[in-house]
Amino acid sequence: MYQHAGVIPGLVHMAGDQSRRQHRKGRPVAGRRATGRTEEPRTQEVAVKPPPFAYAAPATLDEAVGLLAEHAEAEPRVLAGGQSLIPLMNFRLAKPGYLVDLRNIAGLSGIRREGDTLVIGAMTRMSELERSPEVAVAAPLLAEAIGWIAHTPVRNRGTIGGSLAHADPAAELPAVALAADAELAAAGPAGSRRIRATEFFTGPFSTALAPGEILTEIRLPVWPGGHAFVEFARTHGNFAVVGVAALIELDGGRVRRAALALTGVAPTPIRATAAEQVLTGAAADAATAGRAADAAVAGQSPAGDLHASAQMRLDLARAYLRRGIAVAVSRARNER
Ligand code: FAD
Repeated sequence: MYQHAGVIPGLVHMAGDQSRRQHRKGRPVAGRRATGRTEEPRTQEVAVKPPPFAYAAPATLDEAVGLLAEHAEAEPRVLAGGQSLIPLMNFRLAKPGYLVDLRNIAGLSGIRREGDTLVIGAMTRMSELERSPEVAVAAPLLAEAIGWIAHTPVRNRGTIGGSLAHADPAAELPAVALAADAELAAAGPAGSRRIRATEFFTGPFSTALAPGEILTEIRLPVWPGGHAFVEFARTHGNFAVVGVAALIELDGGRVRRAALALTGVAPTPIRATAAEQVLTGAAADAATAGRAADAAVAGQSPAGDLHASAQMRLDLARAYLRRGIAVAVSRARNER
């Protein structure tokens, strides 16, 4: 139920978080201010759960944009599948005072074809994309990449828009959006606009979305050739240490067009443009794939961490690029 003038009391979490409530004194919590309620919300004190927040689930995009503007002082966030945001709140790495849940906005979900573009609503669940015949035909790279994301329960809740807006540098879908030259549509107080994927990911967990803007649609040009999403993860379903999105179009035995994106070697997913240049016009064989992989990692200086050293990331990127290019080439030849 959407209550513009109030909150759903059960969803005002962690009322017993005394220190945090005091910390917030003087800073209005949206729900209480809107309802004028003074009694304590009916929740019990529980450790390691979200800080207090007010909640609304509007029925239209305009209302959602309006709520974000109206409650700007509460540092609001939109809630999509909650698979990243809620854990972050539970760990207190994110402390929005107001959540605008997008689940009731019908126009934000769905998959449709507009000529040579596949248009996907930001709230479309990953599992729907994974099973969609339209996606299988027009953007099989997306379906394959989703198969690498976590496990079914996460994909049943997680949304494509949430994954892109969250912009985890290890995530699969930002690399897909980059390789596929996606355009991302956003709506905010200043109206609607489209942002190219190449300009969308500005840093780890940061994007070109302005405060108060909502991602509404992902527009993926249909790719006529072969595709591959390959990655190395310690355990299937874990975030990838390195991932490769590859799209290859052939002209006889040569590469007509190539689009490659990489995760795990830079603070954001990157387009491997040097590798694309090596591939374009060259023979579609293993030697070319090797030269392209070398070109892709040249100049990259990833940070080492507990998952992999910098050198291991570069070696993995080289190996998985060769593999991704080979799979995409063979699919372009209809071998697989
Ligand atoms: P939410 O968690 O609801 O939101 C995430 C962020 O994006 C929030 O800041 C929110 O405000 C913002 N946001 C959401 N939608 C919009 C919108 N339309 N406009 C503007 N901002 C928006 N991901 C991977 O890529 N690979 C993995 O291997 C992987 N493994 C996982 C394993 C587990 C156990 C879990 C719990 C998650 C995993 N994830 C993984 C993350 C998962 O893919 C998330 O679903 C996804 O990152 C966020 O999508 P969401 O719809 O749940 O967004």
